[in-house]
Amino acid sequence: MSEPSLTCDSLLRKATISIAGESPRLDAELLLGQVTGLSRTSFRAWPERQVTATEARRFEALVQLRAIGHPVAHLLGEQEFWSLPLKVNASTLIPRPDTECLVEAVLGLAVTDTARVLDLGTGTGAIALALANERRGWQILACDAEASAVELATDNALRLNLPVTLVLSEWFDQLPAGRFDVIVSNPPYIASDDHHLGEGDVRFEPASALISGEEGLDDIRVIVAASPTWLNAGGWLVIEHGYDQGDAVRRLFGQAGLVAVETRRDYGDRDRLTLGQWPA
Ligand code: GLN
Repeated sequence: MSEPSLTCDSLLRKATISIAGESPRLDAELLLGQVTGLSRTSFRAWPERQVTATEARRFEALVQLRAIGHPVAHLLGEQEFWSLPLKVNASTLIPRPDTECLVEAVLGLAVTDTARVLDLGTGTGAIALALANERRGWQILACDAEASAVELATDNALRLNLPVTLVLSEWFDQLPAGRFDVIVSNPPYIASDDHHLGEGDVRFEPASALISGEEGLDDIRVIVAASPTWLNAGGWLVIEHGYDQGDAVRRLFGQAGLVAVETRRDYGDRDRLTLGQWPA
């Protein structure tokens, strides 16, 4: 073990080669930051800085996991969403930047300061917590069908000190009776034979959070059809979906009797969410 190999720069160079993939240098910097507690800027400002042999070994172990595809978020145990540091683990979907479009869409709705909001299939709690962070007066209920997800989201809510109520429920099935001004959801919407399921981070995420029947629409169908009995007059349904599902989802919204139905695009300019209103 020669000393020079334990500089941040040499460790990062080696790791960047073995990680490969889309953003190997960034991934390596995040992992070395995790192990050493140093900031990413410090790797540039002080590339010759030495790390301890123990830190180097821990870093190399993480790099090996990353090289075989484990998501960076799982290795860090954390993923930022709407500037909130969320704990993540293999029991839920890793929050995606595109899902921030749902948060923006909900924040743009004309609803009262004390609106009742429901996040269906909350996973890490990302959407509900982002909304709670922006609208202190909203009463936010979030559910998930997986106990491990409810536990994770509860933990995130407590750590961030954000007032979201978490319940175990498969969609509406175990919810307390009541109606909402906004129902928002990022449900599973990938078709069961989609080749993307064999690539990248999704290989390490639960199928239950990703896959929804042959067309990817099974869960969206259930949520949209049930929404009228859970929405207040004038209340909104906002759902994330695949880039090629806009037409089908708008049709489902229409069949359920929702009005002002509109599909919006994500930061990559692809159809990503549809919203509609239960008529007043
Ligand atoms: N947007 C995610 C992906 O394509 C899928 C999220 C979901 O199914 N809700 O990886």
